[in-house]
Amino acid sequence: MQLSIDLTGREVLVTGTDTAARQAVRRYEAAGAVVRRLAGPHGTAPLPAKPFLVAAVDDGQPGWEPLLQQYRAAGVPVAAEPAAGAAGHVTLVGGGPGTTELLTVAAVKALRDADVVFYDRLAPCQDLPALTSAELVDVGKKPGHHKVGQSDIEKLMVDSALAGNNVVRLKGGDPYVFGRGGEEVAACVAAGLKVQVVSGVTSAISVPAAAGIPVTHRNVSHMFTVVSGHAPLTDKEHGHLAGLGGTIVVLMGIGTLHHLAAGLRRAGMRTDMPMAVVERGYRPGQRTTIADLGTITSAAAGCSNPAVLVIGEVVRVAEANRGHAEAAADLDRLAASLLGS
Ligand code: SAH
Repeated sequence: MQLSIDLTGREVLVTGTDTAARQAVRRYEAAGAVVRRLAGPHGTAPLPAKPFLVAAVDDGQPGWEPLLQQYRAAGVPVAAEPAAGAAGHVTLVGGGPGTTELLTVAAVKALRDADVVFYDRLAPCQDLPALTSAELVDVGKKPGHHKVGQSDIEKLMVDSALAGNNVVRLKGGDPYVFGRGGEEVAACVAAGLKVQVVSGVTSAISVPAAAGIPVTHRNVSHMFTVVSGHAPLTDKEHGHLAGLGGTIVVLMGIGTLHHLAAGLRRAGMRTDMPMAVVERGYRPGQRTTIADLGTITSAAAGCSNPAVLVIGEVVRVAEANRGHAEAAADLDRLAASLLGS
C-alpha cells in the first residue's frame, strides 16, 4: 500500500543509524517534512514531544520496539522504512529507451536506494526527481554542451563510490548494448568496488516496437542482427549482412545511412527491401519514415538522432497491421454511423 500525505512543515521522527537512515531522511526532507533524528533506541536526547509521524528505519538494531510501541500508544502513526543499501558500491542501470514506463522494477529500486545518480541524455531523466532523492549529475552534457568524456565519467563514479556513496550509473537502453557498460564495470572492479548491472529494455527492440515493427515474425524473419552505425561498415560486413536474409537493426546509424544503403545495394540486396527510420521512440515527436533500400537516403534526409533503422520484410508487417487497424477503425466508424442512423 502506498499513501500520499502532504508532509509540508510536519514533524517526522526518523529512527535508525545514520547510515541506514540517510536515504529516508532525504526523502522526508524532499517531501517538505521537518525531520528529527534518533540514531539509537536508547538515545539520551529528549524525544520530540509528539511528531506527526515516526519513520522507523529497519537498521537491524535491537531495542526499537518498546519505543515505537510508546508512540503507537500515543496515537502517532509509525511507518516502516527500509534501510539504505550498503554504501560505497556502484550499480549500472539500464534505463530503457527514454520513458519511465519502461524502467524495470530493479531499476526503480536501485534509483530509490541511490545517493548519487550519473545519468545520460538518452535515459529517462525528466522523471528522476520523482524516483529518487539522490543527487542528480548529468554526464551526457556539461554546461557549454561538451560531453563528459568516458574516462572522466568512470573517475566521477569511482571517486563518488570510494567516498562512501551508493552510486547509480543510469544509461539509455541496456548497459551492454553499445553502452560502454563493460568498460565501466572494469573501472569499478579495478578500483576494488562492488558493482552490479541491471539490464534494461534496449532501444534495438523497443524502438521498432514503438512503430509497430516486430524484429522477428513467423515466416517473415527468424533472426535479427543489431549493428552500430557509429563507424562505417566494411564491404565484407555489408556482404555478410545482406547474405543473412534476416532483419537488420542499426543504432547510431543516421550519419552513415548513405554509406550503409549504398553498401547493401552493392552487396546485392534488393532495392525494394523495406526500411524504416524510427526517431525519438517513446518521446515527444516520435516519427517513423518508411521507404525502401533504393529510396531511403532521400526519404530520410531530414531525420536526426536518436533514431533506430530497421531493414527487412518485418517493416511490411507493421504496415499490414496498421492497415488492419485503420480498416478496423473504418468498420467502427461505419457501425457507429449505421447505429446512429
Ligand atoms: N544502450 C542503448 C544504445 C546506446 S547507443 C540501448 O540499448 O538502447 C545510442 C543509440 O541508441 C542512438 O543513437 C539511437 O540509435 C538508439 N536510441 C536510444 N534511445 C532511442 C530512442 N528513444 N529513440 C530512437 N533511438 C534511440
